Amino acid sequence: MAPVAKVRVAKLVLLGTGGPLPDPRRSGPAVAVLAQNRSYLVDLGPGVVRRAMEAYQLGWLKLHPNQLTRVFVTHLHSDHTAGYADLMLTPPAVGRVDPLQVYGPPGIVKMTDHLLLAYEEDLATRREGLTEDKLAGYRIEPREIEPGVVYEDEIVRVSAFRVEHGEWKNTYGYRFDTDGRSIVISGDTAPSDAVVEACNGCDVLVHEVYCEADFKHVPPLSRSYFSSHHTSTLELVEIATRAKPKLLVLYHLLLNRCTEETVLREMRRYSYVGEVVVGEDLAAS
Ligand SMILES: [Zn+2]
Ligand SMILES: [Zn+2]
Repeated sequence: MAPVAKVRVAKLVLLGTGGPLPDPRRSGPAVAVLAQNRSYLVDLGPGVVRRAMEAYQLGWLKLHPNQLTRVFVTHLHSDHTAGYADLMLTPPAVGRVDPLQVYGPPGIVKMTDHLLLAYEEDLATRREGLTEDKLAGYRIEPREIEPGVVYEDEIVRVSAFRVEHGEWKNTYGYRFDTDGRSIVISGDTAPSDAVVEACNGCDVLVHEVYCEADFKHVPPLSRSYFSSHHTSTLELVEIATRAKPKLLVLYHLLLNRCTEETVLREMRRYSYVGEVVVGEDLAAS
C-alpha cells in the first residue's frame, strides 16, 4: 500500500477486533477513524499502540503512535481500557509532542489520575531534563462527557449516545460525521434503539456480536449476562435491518465453539440482507 498521509474520504481502520479473551489474532477493542490529516481512536484495548504502529507501517501515516492524540472511550471495562497506560506513556517516547485528549464516561478522570499515580516513578525519570515542548506529549487531558455532540473540529463532529450494557450506567457508542461519510461504533451493548437512531442509514456501522449457537451452550447465569450486556446475531439482524448501514462491520466477537463463518451464516439465516463483513485487525473500510 502506498503511504497515506491525508485521507480525503474518512476511513475506518480496525486496530483491535477482539473482546476480553486474549486471542492472539484479535487485539483488544480499538478502532481508528482517519479523516483528512488526523486520526481519532475509539477505545484502548490491550495492544492498541502496537497495532497502531503496525497500521503505520502498512502505510497509514497518521496512525504512527506519535500522532495519537484524540481518543473516545466507550466505557471503562478493562478490555476497552487496558491499553490506556501504554497510550499515555509510550507515544511521547517516539515523538508525541501534543497532549493526549481523552473523552469518556464519568470515571475516566479518576482512572487517569490513578494510572498517572501508578506510573509516577516511571514518568519522573522519563520527564527529567525534557524541554517544555517535549513535556507536552506526556500531558493527559481527560474529559467526562454526556451524550450529545462531544467534540468538533474543522474535520469531524463526534456525537456520543448511551447504549445498554448491563449494570454499566454510562456506556457510550460514538458517531463520527465527516465531509461525506458517517461512521458509527456501537461499543459494548445489548440490543439498543440508540444504535438504530445514531446510524439511521450511516455509511459504516461497527457493531459487537456474539454467536447464537454458542449461546445455547452457556450456563443459565452466563446467559442472562450475555443477553443484558451483548448482542447476538439474531438480535443484531433486527437492529441492523432497522439501522440500515451501507456496510455492517462485526467486531468484539465473543466466540466459543463458533467461528467467523458461523457468525456470518447466522446473520444470513436470520435474513440479514445488507452488506456485512467480519472485521479483522488492520482491515480498513
Ligand atoms: Zn468488551
Ligand atoms: Zn463491556
